Amino acid sequence: MDDIILECDNLVKIYKTDETEVMALQGLELSIKKGELMAIIGKSGSGKSTLLNIIGGLEKTTAGKVLFKDRDISTFTEKEMIEYRKHNIGFVWQKSILNLLPYLTVIQNLEMNGTMNGMSRARACEKGLELLEQVGLSERTDSYPTQLSGGEQQRAAIAVSLMNEPEIILADEPTGAVDERTKDRIQELFRNLNRKLGITIIIVTHDVSLADKVDRVVMISDGKISTERILKEEYRLKLDELEGYNFEDLKRQGKDSHDEYQLLDRAGRVKLSEDMLKAAGINSNRVKISVVDKKIVISYEEDEEDEQI
Ligand code: ADP
Ligand code: MG
Repeated sequence: MDDIILECDNLVKIYKTDETEVMALQGLELSIKKGELMAIIGKSGSGKSTLLNIIGGLEKTTAGKVLFKDRDISTFTEKEMIEYRKHNIGFVWQKSILNLLPYLTVIQNLEMNGTMNGMSRARACEKGLELLEQVGLSERTDSYPTQLSGGEQQRAAIAVSLMNEPEIILADEPTGAVDERTKDRIQELFRNLNRKLGITIIIVTHDVSLADKVDRVVMISDGKISTERILKEEYRLKLDELEGYNFEDLKRQGKDSHDEYQLLDRAGRVKLSEDMLKAAGINSNRVKISVVDKKIVISYEEDEEDEQI
């Protein structure tokens, strides 16, 4: 496991207000390899933003830890944490306005980001122009953010996040506020950045359709990772060969582009979905578990059809 860049170990996050406690993360475990392009998908309120903020060092955990290259980020000194947020992590927010200052042009936004982090002005300008070309915004360098379309703003935001050459990009609902076509372009851009620059990219979203074009999709529900889907090798190759390849044809043929797994946590727990339980006719909170032919069988009543996992 030497190429693990991030490891979330039993993360728990509890938000306390005067009257209530919300458990936003409930023992979440997740390993991310260097150079992965992955999506974390879950309904609103499932803990996605909390997880990103913790990984990015913007919030502290209640229990558990995040390891960045085997180092617990909660043990970073203040200076190390600033370095981590500046140079290791790039954030892309749904509201691109959080990445872009409205009173600066696109190129000025990039320059400011670079000079604030110690680049010379000339270098920041050069780097900024290079990045704008990469995200397809060379024509819009002197526009103000409000003069850009939603998709252009998001691409500018991605350019800003790349200014300090981060190893990891954390994108929180990056396609939440744009139309379908723009969404495709942004996905394509993430894929290119991942393939060409080797940046590890973690996208969180409630949008299931985003899952098609990433290598690994994990589902988060109630602050825990439940299911994981891995892009099949043959489709991964297709995606790399053909830019803009989409899975509509496969779906029409009823083929699945990903292999799906349930996660077994360190304590030996798996989560069974309501759909599965329903399909197996299990509606009791007591089940029998047996091992048959090297398979674990969970059943409700002896005589009933068994559900195998
Ligand atoms: P998602 O991004 O998946 O929509 P969040 O991580 O934002 O979910 O939130 C997970 C849960 O934690 C929700 O129930 C939310 O209301 C709660 N929560 C998030 N941030 C706070 C906060 N600062 N104070 C109190 N509760 C919060
Ligand atoms: Mg969120």
